[in-house]
Amino acid sequence: MKKQKIDTICVQAGYEAKNGAPRIAPIAQSTTYKYDNADELAELFDLKKEGHMYSRISNPTVAVLENKVAAMEGGIGALAVSAGQAATLLAILTICNCGEHLVALNNLYGGTFTLIGSTLKKFGIETTFVSAEDDDETIERAILPNTKLILAESLSNPGVEVLDIERFSALAHRNDLPLFVDNTFPTPVLLKPFDYGADIVIHSATKYLDGHATSVGGVIVDSGNFDWTRGKFPHLTEEDPNYHGLSYTKAFGKSAFITKARVVFVRDLGTLMTPFNAFLINLGTETLALRMERHSENALKVAQFLEQHPQIEWIHYPHLPSSPSYALAQKYLPKGAAGVLSAGIKGGLENTKKFINSLKLASLVVHVGDIRTHALHPASMTHRQLSAEDQLKAGIKPNMVRLSIGIEDIEDIVADLDQALQKSVI
Ligand code: PLP
Repeated sequence: MKKQKIDTICVQAGYEAKNGAPRIAPIAQSTTYKYDNADELAELFDLKKEGHMYSRISNPTVAVLENKVAAMEGGIGALAVSAGQAATLLAILTICNCGEHLVALNNLYGGTFTLIGSTLKKFGIETTFVSAEDDDETIERAILPNTKLILAESLSNPGVEVLDIERFSALAHRNDLPLFVDNTFPTPVLLKPFDYGADIVIHSATKYLDGHATSVGGVIVDSGNFDWTRGKFPHLTEEDPNYHGLSYTKAFGKSAFITKARVVFVRDLGTLMTPFNAFLINLGTETLALRMERHSENALKVAQFLEQHPQIEWIHYPHLPSSPSYALAQKYLPKGAAGVLSAGIKGGLENTKKFINSLKLASLVVHVGDIRTHALHPASMTHRQLSAEDQLKAGIKPNMVRLSIGIEDIEDIVADLDQALQKSVI
């Protein structure tokens, strides 16, 4: 059959109903699975046979979502976990041991910044942060002999800077490193990082994939394209005594990475997604293509409205010609730039708080990427743990508001922002 388009994949992929079976993938609310033969179960333990044995490691409902997101991204396999944070953690741990190192862009989501810059540091994994504005030479100087990967966001949270994926994948590959891309904001509906050379994709499924603010979850997707056997990744090539000397690359070939992430780290850390969350997030993905179109359309209209508003000091939205990311957005996000934008309110912090407190339709919540319009103040919320200096390096200004534009009627959204801006003048 001809390769299906993303709108069709969102609706149809991940589950095929057998004759007489439920049309909708059921929730397999079961911790365990029955077998008739002891040898068969032993083969599952040895990874010689595929199948579910315990829901800390895999589950049929979770597998439906994994297959769906892998198909959406054009990857060979996926792993759905308890949160976006768990996805980033497990993806890194799969190829990065204590004493090793990664390079990351400094405009990452605050939680990711803290995870790698502080928590992983305590476990002996170091990170060097670089800026997308640095030239290639500067970034390559940050790559050390023990560096294992480069991590970046395709559309950064909250600065909405578009990543030049081709540049960073070329830079990673000429150093024999994989590029990990957090594709939470664009989702594969608007951008597929594998098409531009990324090797591993990470999602906070909590955002647009779910889309209704019901479930926290994360997904790792493997492109299957990175060659782990070129010398830098004994983590995947060498024999693992825990599986009787199995080498992941020899046993699983292109799926070595995503298999190890599951059979070592999800198994040991217990962070698989729950079946109920997988069911809800899968339901969300069914309308994702429609929603991303509306989010993008509404956000562009809001951005155009705010850009000419006298109470707005600055605004970033990749589809505004004034955005520093405009050219990259034309290349990587031609269908739309999703629903998130950031803006600076005139008059500093107090006016910014007044604006947020005056919103009526848009709510102040610690969330982004669902059907409702939201506002948040990154400096005092999502990026609060960063020092003032690191906040500024990450582009977080005290008067920055992050808006997540929903799918409500655009006239109602604009009217709400307008009345709150009028009240923001102190
Ligand atoms: N990556 C990005 C871009 C995010 O915005 C977030 C959360 O806001 C995460 C990762 C972490 O995801 P979660 O909150 O699902 O753990």
